[in-house]
Amino acid sequence: MKVEIQVTVEVQTALCIGSGVSASTLGIDRLTLKNHNGNLLIPGSALKGKLRMGCEQILKTLKVRICQSPNPASMCPHYFWIHDNRENEEERYCPICEIFGSPWSESPLEFADLVWWDGEEWKKHKTDVRPGIAISRSRGVVEEDKLFYTETSPPDAKPRFAGDIHGYLKDNKQIALMLTGLKDIRAFGNSKSRGLGWSDVSCDLISPDLTDEEIADAMKGWTNGQNT
Ligand SMILES: [Zn+2]
Repeated sequence: MKVEIQVTVEVQTALCIGSGVSASTLGIDRLTLKNHNGNLLIPGSALKGKLRMGCEQILKTLKVRICQSPNPASMCPHYFWIHDNRENEEERYCPICEIFGSPWSESPLEFADLVWWDGEEWKKHKTDVRPGIAISRSRGVVEEDKLFYTETSPPDAKPRFAGDIHGYLKDNKQIALMLTGLKDIRAFGNSKSRGLGWSDVSCDLISPDLTDEEIADAMKGWTNGQNT
């Protein structure tokens, strides 16, 4: 069935999502990501990664068997071939890989980038650059040449990022798991330990039209012993 979930992330503290691009020429070591319009964003891939980890945690707690990410060799479809000798190709994907994909199968969902949206306009170029130092663990002193700069969203701005997840899922059970996982996300970005990126995530199920009771009921489907 067709699924669309609107996701809003309200960041309570400054956010830094590394771009993975070296920015040493700019004197900034960790660049926060922007799209081509200069809007700050949380990449869809970061949301997907976070949500996958959260959903894995939930299913492990409910004793649902899933493969062992992120090592490709112990992920689906290999996992259930090695452990259960499952002949049927279709049955070799765990609930997590069915939703999020594996190195050998595509996810049926697309995760759009979450862009800074304040309800009236998309926000541009509002970042802070903050200095930090690297402390040598063994000697407990500041290491030379280890002063670095981190670009973050402004500390008091509490930016709201919005975007959507859309695509196709098999049943309400999968949707309920996604929504539960989304509400569990607490932080985004690098430097969690330094207090950056603590977030409140809210989500709106646009399609299909399900009541809270129907979602809660569907979630119970994971605990009724019919899981593989
Ligand atoms: Zn899997």
